[in-house]
Amino acid sequence: GADAPARSARPDAGPAPAKEVTSLSNPLVKDLRGLHSKKERAETGLFLAEGLKLVADAIEQNWPIRTLVHAVKVREQPMVRRIADAARACGALVVEVSDDVLVKISRRDNPQMVVAAFEQRLLSLDDIDPSGTTVWVALEGIKDPGNLGTILRTVDSVGATGAILIGDTTDPFALEAVRATMGSIFHVPLAAGTMAEFAAWKAKHRVPVVGTHLKGAVDYRSIAYPEPVVLLMGNEQSGLPDAYVELCDHVVKIPMAGRADSLNLAIATAVMLYEIRRPRLGL
Ligand code: SAM
Repeated sequence: GADAPARSARPDAGPAPAKEVTSLSNPLVKDLRGLHSKKERAETGLFLAEGLKLVADAIEQNWPIRTLVHAVKVREQPMVRRIADAARACGALVVEVSDDVLVKISRRDNPQMVVAAFEQRLLSLDDIDPSGTTVWVALEGIKDPGNLGTILRTVDSVGATGAILIGDTTDPFALEAVRATMGSIFHVPLAAGTMAEFAAWKAKHRVPVVGTHLKGAVDYRSIAYPEPVVLLMGNEQSGLPDAYVELCDHVVKIPMAGRADSLNLAIATAVMLYEIRRPRLGL
């Protein structure tokens, strides 16, 4: 683009060499490693994602990238070169690092060869017009990052539209949540709001809400689900509070035939989503 650095100044006219970082005490390493902390993610508005395919996918969709880090040893791989060029063209810093720096940034013994810092994108409910969409999954007070990531991946898989976080929830941009999405964090619109904002949004758009509860009066297979629709899920510990149940147009239950008390939240969400979308999913 117009802002790209002038390359013709160098005689070989090749791409600018990447910055190389091998010192564990480099401030850049500290900044990236800091993104494991919720506080630093909140302050910077950034988050980490790992893996060549996932990062390439995010860049391809023009998700704003700030820093791309890759192992020195994969520098010649065509896909790494491609994403490095694309990241530079978006104004991101591209850094080649030693393996021990990658271990430090990712806090993993066997890190992926590519890690990147991206800008967070969290919508407010005012940004969401449900008309013409399919299913929104609303998650009340979800606590487990693995569950949240798994649910976003399932929303993506089933062709639902997006997810809404209500109240005090786990951070969707925590690395554990991002890992569990397997890239769907870049495909699934995500909004957050309070219970009052959710209630007002539902009233404004008149979108039906189907809640799930172990004490639901109706079998989840007995409803013809409209679209758009909101599927409202309770949190891992205590199920949907009464105030939320009152917001629902239907409260459904998935039968429990064995001795377990309940299904895992992400599993219950998947069962519901595939049932809601069943008539619209061809083989
Ligand atoms: N101890 C909690 C309770 O009493 O509700 C269990 C919560 S469960 C682990 C997490 C969420 O998954 C629930 O709030 C509900 O939304 C959903 N869920 C799990 N099993 C369900 C079932 N059999 N029927 C309907 N919803 C279910």
